[in-house]
Amino acid sequence: MTAKKKEVTLQVSVINQEQWEEVLATKGLTVVDVYQHWCGPCRAVLSLLRKIKNELGDDLLHFATAEADSIDALEKYRGKCEPTFLFYGGGELVAVLRGANAPLLQRMIVEELSKEKLVLEEGGERKVVVDNGLMDEEKISQEDVTHLHSEDGENIIVPASKSYTVAIIKPDAVAHGKASEIIMKIQDAGFEILAQDEWTLTEVQAREFYQHKDTEACFEDLVQFMSSGPSHILVLSQLEDSANVVQAWLDFIGPTNTDEAKREKPASLRAQYGTQTLFNALHGSEDSDRASRELAFFFPNFSTPSGTEQDVEEEHAERTLALIRPDVARENREEILAQINKSGFQVCLQRETVLTEEQVRHFYLHHVDEDHFPALLQSMTRGPLLALVLTREHAVQHWKDMLGPADVRRAKEENPECLRAQFAVGDHPVNQLHGSESTMEASREISFFFPVQQTLAAIKPDATQEHKEMILEEIRDRRFSIRRLEEKLLSRETVEAFYKKHTDRPFFNQLVEFMCSGPCLMMVLEKENAIEEWRAMMGPTDPDQAKIASPNSLRARLASDILHNSVHGSSSQHHSEEEIKLIFGDPSEHTEADSSDENTTEGPKDASSDNHQQHLEGKHHQEEVD
Ligand code: UDP
Ligand code: MG
Repeated sequence: MTAKKKEVTLQVSVINQEQWEEVLATKGLTVVDVYQHWCGPCRAVLSLLRKIKNELGDDLLHFATAEADSIDALEKYRGKCEPTFLFYGGGELVAVLRGANAPLLQRMIVEELSKEKLVLEEGGERKVVVDNGLMDEEKISQEDVTHLHSEDGENIIVPASKSYTVAIIKPDAVAHGKASEIIMKIQDAGFEILAQDEWTLTEVQAREFYQHKDTEACFEDLVQFMSSGPSHILVLSQLEDSANVVQAWLDFIGPTNTDEAKREKPASLRAQYGTQTLFNALHGSEDSDRASRELAFFFPNFSTPSGTEQDVEEEHAERTLALIRPDVARENREEILAQINKSGFQVCLQRETVLTEEQVRHFYLHHVDEDHFPALLQSMTRGPLLALVLTREHAVQHWKDMLGPADVRRAKEENPECLRAQFAVGDHPVNQLHGSESTMEASREISFFFPVQQTLAAIKPDATQEHKEMILEEIRDRRFSIRRLEEKLLSRETVEAFYKKHTDRPFFNQLVEFMCSGPCLMMVLEKENAIEEWRAMMGPTDPDQAKIASPNSLRARLASDILHNSVHGSSSQHHSEEEIKLIFGDPSEHTEADSSDENTTEGPKDASSDNHQQHLEGKHHQEEVD
């Protein structure tokens, strides 16, 4: 790890028990990257940590790296290949994040730091957690499991200058216990692992992944083999940034045919680990176009430098949170949205919501003691407010400039053109629009209004194969992560339970017949605000109504009538949890051992991942949206 030396000041390096205790005694929040000797600290997050340190410049925030192999207290973390970040406040564990998930790491650092400050400054109670990695399995209470699990290592940002390829350590090599050895060799050869995931492909996924080979004789065997057990999916670039990591990786793994590999390139990975052409241990993207498709297939949230124009724009874009408070949201919404659009912002997420007092207190954590808070509270809870995530270059600063001074009187005097002056309500002292203060705040505030959620989506039996493919493509285009995907022939009992709230409706029997009449493609989709987002994509229940209200929606375009309406989506957080449990089972009932036997597409660890978020921010009141 050549870059390590430079980082000494950013992260304290801890390699023995004594240094570990010293770090734990440090006042404030310490974020520790626990790593294995053989793979070194996680480099993917360094620039993020540096940015956070620069932006927050906070004396109470510390970073450290700790080698699990040489610190007794970290014994239970040895041999785990997934990056793990432990958050300590006052020497006690307050949060855990697994996976190099940059946006989530950023959110958690901001959150945990502000919580630790509340503890230090106002003597609040520190909420200590127990990591299931550090205790016996049977002692883990359900509560610990839900908020300790985190999102998987997606959302990693590839620097614009880097090219990348997708590598797979196939089920044969993983089953033979060769994965860590291969990963070590990959790193020694100068490849950089930008993301890593252990994943058992389902048959459907294997078929889709190798679609371009479906006329070849080996296709069926290949599908069976690839879905026979867990694989390791890696996104690779090179430390010495050569222009073509795709070719470099293909050279490194050697010829497809293992006999040829052994003869002509005995040092190649396939020569060493492959046993026959089908079981050739490794995969590499054929060219950079395939690399980008394969990346999107495995890591839908991975933002990449190449790709569509939209992607490039998004990469430079920054996000900020805008709030339009109830009074003006009712009266002036269209006018304000028009000005937002004219100023080059894209509205990438939007929701209208009524906040409870408790939620306002949570959102304005740092303002609750200020004189103007009661007035602010009143104005925030008066009716539905509009929350928007705005993107463009320098979005945070640009939106602040558009808003003008926070003090409405000053806004009117100094800058009558600014939004807060234009949309002041009479003599009301509270300004009517909000914007995030910094990119760090933006990230916290966005996750407050748009927490990452899971929803159960289904493609119903009336959808044709063509429709199915189209729907899947649109799901990926909208950047949902597909956490699970399984084609299922549902039993009558399951459908009856699934639609139990409709038991007394006149269409119930028909609905059950229909849902059992053929296979449904059942999915768990994950995204910020996923429940509403997916329902918006589906459109109204009745396609005739959908054609009028939402002509681009899936039901408007694909459905034939109100019963045969092609897609399903959960209608609330509560339903989503219930439905996922009914269709895919309760993740907490699985032990680690049996989940690896299972042939599903669950991301590497956990289906109920984002409870962490909800736990931090209080549950959103997202009841029925249909
Ligand atoms: N349905 C129907 N007739 C109706 C209402 C609903 O056949 O008048 C069917 C339709 O397939 C719908 C499902 O029942 O998708 C569940 O109804 P719900 O009101 O939950 O609609 P959704 O949440 O699917 O939009
Ligand atoms: Mg419904």
